[in-house]
Amino acid sequence: MAATDDATQTGFSLELTDDQRELRDWVHGFAESVVRPAAAEWDEREETPWPIIQEAARIGLYSYEGLASFFADETGLTLPIVNEELFWGDAGIGLAILGTALPVAAIFGQGTPEQIAEWIPRCFGTADEPKVAAFCASEPDAGSDVSAIRTTARFDERTSEWVLNGQKAWATNGGIADVHVVIASVDRELGARGHAAFVISKEETKGIEQGAKVRKHGLRASHTADVHLDDCRIPADQVLGGKERLDERLARVREGRRSRSQAALQTFEATRPTVGAQALGIARAAYEFALEYAKERVQFGRPIIDNQAIAFTLADMKTEIDAARMLVWRASWMGRTGRPFENAEGSMSKLKAGEVAVWATERAIQILGGNGYTREFPVERFHRDAKIYTIFEGTSEIQRLVIARAISGMHIR
Ligand SMILES: Cc1cc2nc3c(=O)[nH]c(=O)nc-3n(C[C@H](O)[C@H](O)[C@H](O)COP(=O)(O)OP(=O)(O)OC[C@H]3O[C@@H](n4cnc5c(N)ncnc54)[C@H](O)[C@@H]3O)c2cc1C
Repeated sequence: MAATDDATQTGFSLELTDDQRELRDWVHGFAESVVRPAAAEWDEREETPWPIIQEAARIGLYSYEGLASFFADETGLTLPIVNEELFWGDAGIGLAILGTALPVAAIFGQGTPEQIAEWIPRCFGTADEPKVAAFCASEPDAGSDVSAIRTTARFDERTSEWVLNGQKAWATNGGIADVHVVIASVDRELGARGHAAFVISKEETKGIEQGAKVRKHGLRASHTADVHLDDCRIPADQVLGGKERLDERLARVREGRRSRSQAALQTFEATRPTVGAQALGIARAAYEFALEYAKERVQFGRPIIDNQAIAFTLADMKTEIDAARMLVWRASWMGRTGRPFENAEGSMSKLKAGEVAVWATERAIQILGGNGYTREFPVERFHRDAKIYTIFEGTSEIQRLVIARAISGMHIR
């Protein structure tokens, strides 16, 4: 890998800077004192934890400026560190707070400077009145196969408005958000290359409504719902990147020339390492809990960690979690410093971290025995929460597909 900036000329180091350590400890403090104690309650209530979002907004953890400063770190490590610590506290509450980062990434990655300046702050609201945002790509018949999206966006030349129609499925913050980023097809014949991303304010727009709220296995403090678009009219300038650029791109595609932009896929590629870091937070929470438990739980007259079967499991858990973190940090660093993901390193990091989280949380239940299976202990919740990380933002199979295509240069199916 060729070094491309001054930061990498100074030599190799995995040591965090003072700023990174300070931020990590600050987020960890919030996760430990505010998030973890509230986790079981909000999991049971299956509702958005607005008081905790408000608290995160009040201290600046949930804000436009906060996210911008995390992203500004030129090593790329701050974002995964913040995510790991917060999700260590609780993944449901963590996603209720940081789920907004996905639509923000879409606006940041695809918007014009004017759109970024207008819409990203609106995703967060204010410290007194925080808001959340939603990213709506999936549909009942378009999950892994993003090209199957049926939601349409038609341009009405008469009024100079986009008109969107369709149904979105499983949208995190869908319907409770003000800002919704919606992926729609502008030209069905072009498949995913005919997609564009639109930004819609629910408060200012008719024809966008929440559908059914989804009741879930885990991440229950994070709101997930269908979103219906019914003749939803928005101004011409609410297509991310601008209409002119979209028209040029579609013209290139129709002429058979290459086009780099596939609206949903672009967003996912940039956010996968961060999502991997969330899975890591859950895995580490389970590992740490199981380690302490194994030292204290006595059977046959000695702590259960005194058995190699238990101690080796914990050794494997720690090793796998640290290995996954290395992949997450590498991908975040590559993304931030503009290295191309030639071997789908972003997908690798999310694949590994998601699978480690599912495996490690299941092992934690085993180490806690009967207690692990009850709601009196948090590891069953960790396990339920971890499972989504092999499913959303690309299932494990889809990550393998992306990696396989990248390493082979072939269109593996
Ligand atoms: C809690 C939650 C939150 C979510 N949040 C959002 C959100 O904010 N925004 C959003 O747009 N979406 C969101 N989603 C949707 C999520 O991204 C999809 O569920 C996911 O992409 C998988 O799609 P699917 O459920 O339709 O599964 P399917 O695509 O139907 O896949 C079913 C199974 O088939 C496998 N499979 C499919 N195709 C292949 C293939 N080619 N090769 C091998 N195996 C294959 C899959 O890996 C999987 O195991 C969320 C989902 C959940 C559950």
